[in-house]
Formats: sequence, C-alpha cells, structure tokens
Amino acid sequence: MATSRAPLRFADAVSATVSESAKSGFFFDFDGTIAPILRDPAAVFPVPGAVERLRVLAGLVSRVAIVSARPAAFLSDRFAAVPQVRLYGLYGMQTVVDGQVRTDAEARPWAPLMRDLAADALRDLPGEVLVEDKALLVALHYRTAPALRGAVERWASTKAAELGLREQYGRMVVELRPPVEHDKGTVVEREAETLTRAWYFGDDLSDGRAFDVLRDRELRDPAFLGVRVAVANGETGDELARRADFTVSAPEDTPDLLDHVIGAFPGRSARSYPG
Ligand SMILES: [Mg+2]
Repeated sequence: MATSRAPLRFADAVSATVSESAKSGFFFDFDGTIAPILRDPAAVFPVPGAVERLRVLAGLVSRVAIVSARPAAFLSDRFAAVPQVRLYGLYGMQTVVDGQVRTDAEARPWAPLMRDLAADALRDLPGEVLVEDKALLVALHYRTAPALRGAVERWASTKAAELGLREQYGRMVVELRPPVEHDKGTVVEREAETLTRAWYFGDDLSDGRAFDVLRDRELRDPAFLGVRVAVANGETGDELARRADFTVSAPEDTPDLLDHVIGAFPGRSARSYPG
C-alpha cells in the first residue's frame, strides 16, 4: 500500500518529534511488539527494558499508550509501575481510569452472548485449540496445532455470521468480538486528535488499522506526521512491514529503538540510530 509521502528518514522522524514533543504521542500494541509471543498468553510479560522506556518517554512527550486486544485488567497488572501510560484493552472496548477498568457501555450488553460463545468454542473445537475467554472477546489460539487453522477459521466465520460479531485474524489466532465501533484505528485516531506527531508500533494484521489512520490523517493534515513501526515476524509480519516507515526485527529490539528517540531529547545522551 502506498504511503502518503516520500520515505521518512529515522533521524527526521525523531527530530520532528523532539521539536514538537508537547504534541507528540507514542502508541504501542502489546503482544509481539513490546512483549514476546508465547504459547501460554497468561505467561507473557513486557520485554526487559520496555516499561522503563515507556516511563521515560511519558515524561518527554504528551501521550504514551498501549492499544491491545488484552483485557485492560491484564494490561493494568503488567504496567502497574507506569500509571502515566494510558491503557486501552479489548481493542478500546476497555480503558483504565484512576486504576479502575471502564468498559464501553455499548459493548457491555454483549457479555452474556460472548460467555456462551466461549462455552460453545470449548465444546465444539478440538482440545488443542486454546479458547481464551476475555469477557467481551473470545480468542481462539491454534499455535500448538497450526493444522487446525482452517477448522478454527470456519467455525469462527460461521459464528460471526450467525451472531453478528466481528472477526479479527492474527498470529495463530482468530478473535471474535461485538460489532461496536472500536479497533486500534479508532483508538489512535481519537488519541491523536490533538497531536501533530504520532508513532504507532505493531506486529499484526489488526495494527494495520492504526497504520491506516495515521496515513489518512497525514493526507488531511499536512502538518501531521505519523510514524509507523512494524515489528517483524514470520507469521503476519510481512504484511505490516510493507506499510511501515521502519521495521525492527523482534520485540526485544523495540526498547533499543526507543533509546534512540529518547537520546535525541535535550539533556539526554545522544545516540544515532542506523537507517
Ligand atoms: Mg501484537
């Protein structure tokens, strides 16, 4: 997909951000972006150094946020040390305000239907499929049995059509969620309204919506700079990397990239980032 402007140099993206830091924001997906992908989703923590970089960044720019498919309570636990970082869970259906999880009023009535759906998935799908019931989102992970992909996708599509749900395909996972107007794009669009610089870091298909929103905003508003960073992976990574301004090779490399941003701020030790 074409980007709206000439290729961006990393040094230029950084200096544009430093020069308008009070109107800059950094937005991060969680899994596969600042955390590893593991077979057991409950065992995942941010990569070493990520939380510390987010804390520093939050002191330098206007806004730092996590935008994830994880429940907000999970994010709250993982980012308890950085209350200044905004947390958006379940694609924005949940946020954390003053330490309390807030669930979107439009999404809440879907809870009983989603609970039944999780029970149906456990009953209908082979035992190797990990059914993750996140209250308003059901994730069907086939990471331990990739051959089941077709069966999982067919089951999910049938249920989505029958119940009027949204499907989201991702890295060895299919997710079903209520048809409310929340995705990573709508969250970033709203968050970036008052910003002139916004960086988005992602690794998977759902992150493409946030990339699109940054591109659309640039087309409407020439003073706005969107910076798209893809975290490479052999699953869905190529799709996102093609549309990114910059690519890092693994979640473990994201803190290093942030060091090069942080180092460019006055009073911080300067480092140059290759590429
Ligand atoms: Mg991800």
